[in-house]
Amino acid sequence: MLHDAIVIGGSFAGLSAATYLARARRSVAIVDTGTPRNRFAAHSHGFLAQDGSNPNAMLATARSQVGAYPTTTFINTKATKAVQQPDGFSIELTTGETLEGRKLILAFGIADELPDVPGIAERWGKTVIHCPYCHGYEFSGQRLGVLYSSEKSLHQAMLIAEWGPATLYLNGAPLPDSATLAELENRNVAIEPTGVAALHGEGTNLSAIELSDGRRPAIDALYVAPQNHLNSDIAAQLGCAMDTNPAGTIIRTSSMQETSVPGVFAAGDITRGAHSVTWASADGITAGVAAHRSLVF
Ligand SMILES: Cc1cc2nc3c(=O)[nH]c(=O)nc-3n(C[C@H](O)[C@H](O)[C@H](O)COP(=O)(O)OP(=O)(O)OC[C@H]3O[C@@H](n4cnc5c(N)ncnc54)[C@H](O)[C@@H]3O)c2cc1C
Repeated sequence: MLHDAIVIGGSFAGLSAATYLARARRSVAIVDTGTPRNRFAAHSHGFLAQDGSNPNAMLATARSQVGAYPTTTFINTKATKAVQQPDGFSIELTTGETLEGRKLILAFGIADELPDVPGIAERWGKTVIHCPYCHGYEFSGQRLGVLYSSEKSLHQAMLIAEWGPATLYLNGAPLPDSATLAELENRNVAIEPTGVAALHGEGTNLSAIELSDGRRPAIDALYVAPQNHLNSDIAAQLGCAMDTNPAGTIIRTSSMQETSVPGVFAAGDITRGAHSVTWASADGITAGVAAHRSLVF
């Protein structure tokens, strides 16, 4: 069967794209492995009318609403390979099946490479966070830390000082230049140059950050700025142009979310430097509309 569109990734971006294609009565296959990036957080913030909702519950509702359209098909597996064909694209799945589609929408998201410090991974999305707009309000006025991983952490420390008293844990990295130090001081950011050995606290709570000299200052939330990786190399296989930003590689798209390869659209975190459920959904809608119009005209 030749689908009008295949969507790879069935989360906020992919399901938004699929909704618009389904409402245009087009056949759309959604291939998804079910691991959205924010699955580690119990609450998603900032999406209008869904502030504080559980992200997995939001996606379950979205899946059931998209699945109610008669022209949608869900395939719960991994897409591994994409090949351009004369009339569209063929997509290989881990099951050994191949799907055929006239248009392709990439919405497979990114992965976060967390710093290798004991205690971080299990607290990710709870008390170890990256985005103050997503989770900063909940830690307002509490003891905040920023773990240095790259130059991005300096900007992050200046920003999160807006939410409470902040300490920049340099974790053995060199002191920033004097102009940056002055800016940090202006923003009341304390600097701790010593290495970080581990995080401590009951369950996923955070109560102390253990330094390599044995001190354990108290802390309630730790910000990190992870490097990002695309979840799939399918865009590279197709020859889509890429851009780099300080966090990693993104897929280059037009204002209508079309990649450099005609007929291939991309949406969500894989296409932008700043990330949110709202932006991913908006990109997905744009990609869905653009893919539909390219089927018509
Ligand atoms: C800890 C954390 C908390 C966050 N909190 C918030 C918040 O409070 N508010 C907010 O607005 N944003 C938040 N975000 C950002 C938000 O999670 C992302 O912006 C959003 O999930 C991006 O949506 P997406 O559809 O682009 O990608 P994702 O949601 O990551 O979805 C990608 C989908 O593609 C699937 N997939 C990947 N590879 C393949 C493949 N090869 N084949 C098939 N399927 C594949 C995955 O399983 C997944 O379902 C948070 C992020 C993190 C890390």
